[in-house]
Amino acid sequence: MNPHVFAGNPLDRSDVQRRDQQWLEAQATNPQSRFLPLWQLNVLIRSESETRLGWLKPVQIEGLGIDVPPVFLGQIDGVAHFAIDISQLGDPQYQLGLDQPWRFEEARAAATQLSPAETGILAQSRAQIDWHRRHQFCSVCGQRTVQGRGGHVRQCPGCKAEHFPRTDPVAIMVVSDGARCLLGQSRGRLSRTGTYSALAGFIDQGESIEEAVRREVKEEAGIEVGQVQYHSSQPWPFPSSLMIGCHGKALTTDIHIDDGEMTDVRWFSRDEVLAALTGKHPDLHVPAPIAIAHHLIKAWAEGEIRMD
Ligand SMILES: [Zn+2]
Repeated sequence: MNPHVFAGNPLDRSDVQRRDQQWLEAQATNPQSRFLPLWQLNVLIRSESETRLGWLKPVQIEGLGIDVPPVFLGQIDGVAHFAIDISQLGDPQYQLGLDQPWRFEEARAAATQLSPAETGILAQSRAQIDWHRRHQFCSVCGQRTVQGRGGHVRQCPGCKAEHFPRTDPVAIMVVSDGARCLLGQSRGRLSRTGTYSALAGFIDQGESIEEAVRREVKEEAGIEVGQVQYHSSQPWPFPSSLMIGCHGKALTTDIHIDDGEMTDVRWFSRDEVLAALTGKHPDLHVPAPIAIAHHLIKAWAEGEIRMD
């Protein structure tokens, strides 16, 4: 089981049905179907005793005059699920006639309140809606593209190019020299909150995961890495990353910081990290469980990872 927030999406993405435009159109008006609206990338949720995604019926969407097609997410037990971008509305909550306990919530904040399965659906919805918003034109010839296969492709009527939703792989790694692990503070949010996290960086073109791990650690900290071991992965829809979590064995220990990217990189002992994970360290903060970094750090600190 993948332990991560934004993983565990229960939808069957229905690749056969999504190629059938007539079927998609019938499902979009089927009263059984469910629509998840996103407004300016904020997702509709409903908070009562527990917080759930704010699914609406087709009839609630029909009257809004939305001029972008919905994205077909998939099916659960034969029920079609869609996400729809309603950003063109001025006051979506009023226009939908929704009062408390409904509200539009930023996706990270929503994810900390939703069930694991629903965070997976949220990741798919946010990444898809955002990609369609930012890829309206053909990158080959510049013409306006149209959505196909329920959102799995954008097609160019001019040059016939097909453009597919992108996922950007990021290598994220905890490197250890045996007794200590290497954590860093990148410029921006981490340094403002005093948080140390796993090092990370986008995987380059023509580069394997292992090569990316070794290059990033060398660039950011000046440490040479030998063996690399895959741990787990996490979809991270901000906007479309796939975090690929690894552990690595350090071959050297002298840190040389890339101070353009990092404010600090340090070795931390197992005891320091264990204290930070339970909030008992006076100075050291590590990322919360929503982030894969937390689980990579924890796996190392609890001795689950051996790199001998
Ligand atoms: Zn084109």
